[in-house]
Amino acid sequence: MSLRGRVALVTGAASGIGAATARVLAADGARVIVADIDQQGEAVAKEIVAAGGEAIFHRVDVRRADEVRAAVAAAESTYGHLDTVIANAGTVGGPAVARRLEDLDEERWTAILDINLAGTIRTFAAAVPALRRAGGGAMSATASIAGLTGVAGQAAYSASKGGIVAVVRALAFELVTDRIRVNCACPGGVATNLLANTDVLPVLMAQAEAQARADAAEAPASVSASAGPVGGPGAQALMNRAADPAEVARVHRFLVSDEASLVNGQAVVCDAGSSVANLWMV
Ligand code: NAD
Repeated sequence: MSLRGRVALVTGAASGIGAATARVLAADGARVIVADIDQQGEAVAKEIVAAGGEAIFHRVDVRRADEVRAAVAAAESTYGHLDTVIANAGTVGGPAVARRLEDLDEERWTAILDINLAGTIRTFAAAVPALRRAGGGAMSATASIAGLTGVAGQAAYSASKGGIVAVVRALAFELVTDRIRVNCACPGGVATNLLANTDVLPVLMAQAEAQARADAAEAPASVSASAGPVGGPGAQALMNRAADPAEVARVHRFLVSDEASLVNGQAVVCDAGSSVANLWMV
């Protein structure tokens, strides 16, 4: 899945899934624009360069169309063209995010939609002319399982992610004649700042631990999934685990690579199975 010769813009790349994606794409030969509102992205770009890859940091606030366009221009002026985009910047809207819609103030839910959904639209809109100039390319976004199943206590976040899925489907058709594929990844819980800064991770951990304890009490002798009953010891805990950001990064890498030439307009679920385990997830 070599990405040699590719130039990739990754938003929200200063930490978590975005930083992991920047590293994974660079390790595969892509030259990467590490774009983020947080200056910490500079350290991510430096780390990639120290590891023998090519990357620059470009500060961008995805709430600002002019800043996103400037990041695209930086890609073209630094590396000659742009053919790959990962629209990943996002927020759950701050701590204690699980709350009823009527308790979510206007400022908070509009910020969630502005960064997650409108930010993705701005990023794609700014990038498409550049991808056309490059003769085609591939774009991916970080949506969420929340955008497919909806999550109680996170209506605005769920709407922002469901919106990304709809945008991806619309664009896949719109851009097919430009030889541009558009997909998104839908992770479950991922161990990042976003999850750590909310009340979601403790809930996930408590659920997983309680399930593991219940399973162990029910069938203490059976620890192997193949030997045990269906959904046996720890099965739900395994599906409900918080993923490593690199696991999501590798899904993005696949989606923007030529290996995914048949995958277009798709919301690719990467949640360790939590959505089929029917557990409450982000
Ligand atoms: P994170 O907080 O580590 O990373 C989010 C990044 O986005 C940060 O570097 C932040 O500075 C940047 N960002 C926020 N607002 C921005 C703005 N206005 N302009 C530019 N950059 C901005 O969290 P993460 O989990 O890596 O989140 C990445 C994406 O993954 C988000 O879209 C998030 O909704 C999505 N996601 C996360 C999880 C999870 O459990 N962590 C699950 C599903 C989807």
